[in-house]
Amino acid sequence: MSSSRLRKCTGCGEYWYCGAACQKKQWEAHHRRVCKRIARYNASVAVQALAEHDRLDALLLSHVVAQLDDETSASEAERIMALLPGPIENPPSLPLVYTPSSTAARISPVALYARFGNNNFVLHSHLTTFAHGVFPQASRYFNHSCMPNAAAKYALRTGERPRMEVVALRDVAEGEEICLPYLDPALLQSKKEIFKYSYGFECRCPSCLFFDKAGKVTEPRSEEDNELAKKVLRFYESGPCDGLALVKLNHPPPADVLPAFHESFIMRLSQTFRDASHDGLYAKALDSGASLLALYRLIYPPNYPQIGMHLLELAKTSWNSIVAGEVDRETEERRKTLCRGYLDEATRILGILGPEGDKDGPLVEMSTLHQILRTDNSSIVGR
Ligand SMILES: [Zn+2]
Ligand SMILES: [Zn+2]
Ligand SMILES: [Zn+2]
Repeated sequence: MSSSRLRKCTGCGEYWYCGAACQKKQWEAHHRRVCKRIARYNASVAVQALAEHDRLDALLLSHVVAQLDDETSASEAERIMALLPGPIENPPSLPLVYTPSSTAARISPVALYARFGNNNFVLHSHLTTFAHGVFPQASRYFNHSCMPNAAAKYALRTGERPRMEVVALRDVAEGEEICLPYLDPALLQSKKEIFKYSYGFECRCPSCLFFDKAGKVTEPRSEEDNELAKKVLRFYESGPCDGLALVKLNHPPPADVLPAFHESFIMRLSQTFRDASHDGLYAKALDSGASLLALYRLIYPPNYPQIGMHLLELAKTSWNSIVAGEVDRETEERRKTLCRGYLDEATRILGILGPEGDKDGPLVEMSTLHQILRTDNSSIVGR
């Protein structure tokens, strides 16, 4: 939505809304408690001194406090305060827009802040983040795994709070614990620190144990990226078919493939794929995309949403490469087959989670592409 169509709050001039209905709802929920104070708050010395991320945290915390500081929310405040605090015992005391009054004894902003860091879930639709939220029940029920058997999605209904739905990604055996990923499992190196400082635990999931045993993964130099991409694809084609199969192996990937499991390489490969696909360098895009798919399959558990989303990107890229012309008949046929294969698997995987909050998301793109392939007329699919 373009900013010109947003409505600005005339009270503070700082908040923007998609329309009158949302503005009214948010006004009742908490903005009426902070609106008048925001300008003064922003200009204060204490706020000016904050680092950017602390300023955002302070604002979010102010909203939570404003919302909870209400007799009708007392039980809600208690449910959040009953959660385990994060590992940092004394988080900084952030300046708040709104000072709690009525239930001040129940809500200590510092204690609330200590619980937010390790209990907030990233709300997203098909991997596009739109909010962070605390779901006390989910915090208590679901432990983390980097090889999870379930994933969360968020249902959005007008007039209701977002609802988390937990969907099994594969068959779950009787007695098997249902786990969710607290972080993207592909953050293979940095997640250790995040677990320690934000959550206060060391992950002992099958994937982490496997990579611990494999030893230190050195960061490859970018000049080696092309070779490494080919090697990881060959490794995948010759052996383990998915992340579960990889961690079940008793031996680590060969030493010359191991650097592919460095998160910096994964990020560069993903960038190479996106850039090449966008710039119409299709052969390069399809090669790097296939290597990235191999890596994703080796890192994530079967049916993981990231794999489905990447398959859809590969299907779109394959189709666009045909439409762009410039390839011989044989290549065209090969890419059509490739496109169908990618699309069918994307459809199966993304079908497990089904519709999410976004209305014109990947599900629409998939059905468009299925239709194009059926009628086989030539048009570019959004990139
Ligand atoms: Zn306002
Ligand atoms: Zn809205
Ligand atoms: Zn783990």
